[in-house]
Amino acid sequence: MDYVIAATGRRPNVGKLGLEALNLAQDEKGVPIVNAHTMQTSIPHIFLAGDASNLLPLLHEANDQGRIAGDNAARFPHVVPGFRHSALSIVFTSPQIAMVGETYRNLQERAKQQAKACDCFAVGEVSFEDQGRSRVIGQNKGLLRVYGELGTGRFLGAEMIAPAAEHLAHLLAWAHQSEMTVAQMLSLPFYHPVVEEGLRTALRDLNANLELGSAIEDRCMECGVGD
Ligand SMILES: Cc1cc2nc3c(=O)[nH]c(=O)nc-3n(C[C@H](O)[C@H](O)[C@H](O)COP(=O)(O)OP(=O)(O)OC[C@H]3O[C@@H](n4cnc5c(N)ncnc54)[C@H](O)[C@@H]3O)c2cc1C
Repeated sequence: MDYVIAATGRRPNVGKLGLEALNLAQDEKGVPIVNAHTMQTSIPHIFLAGDASNLLPLLHEANDQGRIAGDNAARFPHVVPGFRHSALSIVFTSPQIAMVGETYRNLQERAKQQAKACDCFAVGEVSFEDQGRSRVIGQNKGLLRVYGELGTGRFLGAEMIAPAAEHLAHLLAWAHQSEMTVAQMLSLPFYHPVVEEGLRTALRDLNANLELGSAIEDRCMECGVGD
């Protein structure tokens, strides 16, 4: 691919709310900064939720944030961290793009902060070029990468440009929120022939890279039955 046209990005519509009169701390784009766990702004009794905050501008995030902000405003000054779902973003392109849990960039930054660059997580991947069901439906393009924690084998996150990414991402988000290990995910059922068999290949690759399972020796078996 030679070119990428990125036509995304939207700004919160906070222009006419008179926020400037409050002197709230703002980010470099003029959006009020809130604590992601409590939805508290720099002024303790003012809470913000949804696109008006500096957090992810997505509908399900706005729902979570609204509940946390409302609860904390109602019980102020007893402010507590609220429940957040696992991160999940989907872009309805063709093929679709999706992210679940922690991104590769997040994991790398965290590893650097802990001064043990890149030795605390492992990566597994699958290309959909040779994936059985994806080939049959003529959508055999894309890549899925999954991340897991060394030592515990806990599933940390995933990023993909893939066929049926919206569905793969939901399965992975449910596993992430359930704090499953990669081995537990691999013990769940996979039908044949489905795109999810590609996910199983990526998880097997990850389990091997976590030194918790054997490496995939016969890639051919992964195109179809593979069990
Ligand atoms: C083109 C587009 C595509 C999107 N696609 C997705 C998607 O696929 N998936 C997803 O999860 N999210 C998507 N989003 C984002 C999602 O719509 C927002 O994250 C979500 O609606 C935020 O909810 P909110 O309540 O914070 O704000 P909003 O839903 O924008 O609600 C704010 C309300 O406040 C009103 N308002 C504004 N100013 C004032 C004022 N001064 N006085 C009174 N009322 C006022 C507005 O009219 C509006 O009704 C998309 C957004 C856009 C623009």
